[in-house]
Amino acid sequence: MTALPSSDDIARMDAADPLAALRERFLLTKGEVYLDGNSLGAASIDALAALQVAARDEWSRDLIRSWNSAGWFDLPVELGDRIGRLIGAAAGQVVVTDTTSINIYKALHAAIGLRPGRDVIVAEAGSFPTDLYMAEGVISALPGMSLRLEGRDASRIEDLLDERVAVVLVNHVNYRSGELRDMAALTRKIHASGALVVWDLCHSAGALPVELDASNADFAVGCSYKYLNGGPGAPAFLYAASRHLGQVAQPLSGWWGHARPFAFETGYAGDPGIRRFQCGTQPVLSLRALKGALDIWDQVDMQALRAKSLSLTDLFIELVEGQCAGLGLTLQTPRESAQRGSQVAFAHENAYAVMQALIARGVIGDFRAPDILRFGFAPLYLSHADVAHAADVLRDVLQTEEWREARFAVRAAVT
Ligand SMILES: *Cc1c(COP(=O)(O)O)cnc(C)c1O
Repeated sequence: MTALPSSDDIARMDAADPLAALRERFLLTKGEVYLDGNSLGAASIDALAALQVAARDEWSRDLIRSWNSAGWFDLPVELGDRIGRLIGAAAGQVVVTDTTSINIYKALHAAIGLRPGRDVIVAEAGSFPTDLYMAEGVISALPGMSLRLEGRDASRIEDLLDERVAVVLVNHVNYRSGELRDMAALTRKIHASGALVVWDLCHSAGALPVELDASNADFAVGCSYKYLNGGPGAPAFLYAASRHLGQVAQPLSGWWGHARPFAFETGYAGDPGIRRFQCGTQPVLSLRALKGALDIWDQVDMQALRAKSLSLTDLFIELVEGQCAGLGLTLQTPRESAQRGSQVAFAHENAYAVMQALIARGVIGDFRAPDILRFGFAPLYLSHADVAHAADVLRDVLQTEEWREARFAVRAAVT
């Protein structure tokens, strides 16, 4: 057996980290290790500064003029293009708007509209549930449509594809296991069956390089409050490939998606471009915070981000497995780094209480029912030393059985 990395080894990893300086741009609590950036990204100095300017100057002073003078009206497309650079989308194909759930609804409808005569949506039984709930909602509005699920109706998406399938809704990185799909390969198979694809990037946008255009993806959706650090409830994004924009329709035909919103016409005429996917007035303060949060990404090389992400998750797996053998943990994340997003999940029989005990010790991850300890590794603000500390605390909590304390069994509304 080879020895586990020493503290000197870990210090060397941090010294060689090209992204290390970015940590200073974030407001992190001393003594805490925040491993939940895959659920709510950390606040950055830039995001909070943008929010302050938006509140003080744009809202308080300039008021209604800010729609034009501060560019509020164009924020959804301006920020869409900036996120587009991180997910391999050329300009004009991404809009920041609404929530991921709402965007799933719009994207599924849009895709189905492009495949008349086809009546099946394919999704994953193990998907983040809102994706499935929204697919159910789409089906309830379109008589005759039905849902096929990987993990229920067949074990692989490939085995569910046929001439009835209109669209496949699939996660790039699974929210529980952290498993990463091969976007280009699966998109090719889906297209070969004549169907379209909607990629859910909630756990890959800002976590690893994404190549939507190069993969020939049709649609994609994702969060901006996870790895992109846009803040709680920051609006989501929607990508539609330019080749579809001319023909595509979406069902939530509100005035912000109209070709001429300020002509106040009686009938709906959708914008010819990506703006069509907007519905109503967007959350400007959240968009302004997100605009600030995105500034940091101009300095980030996505290959370096990926290398650091895998270095952090590899180290965590190695340390936890090396230090916690026999303590009831089972790795749920692919060991093969090419198949991994930027998170690590371990199953444990008492995962809820173990996570509460970790949080009480300042190691903030989260619990996903029924038995998953989930640790997200945001490469912009975490160090290898953080990873080593988290692994040490996990070992202590399990070894001492500290998690058995009654207070750690109390369930809060949000886990
Ligand atoms: C976080 C997440 C969502 C969240 O959707 P909201 O509408 O923003 O609440 C949806 N899908 C996946 C896969 C997620 O990870």
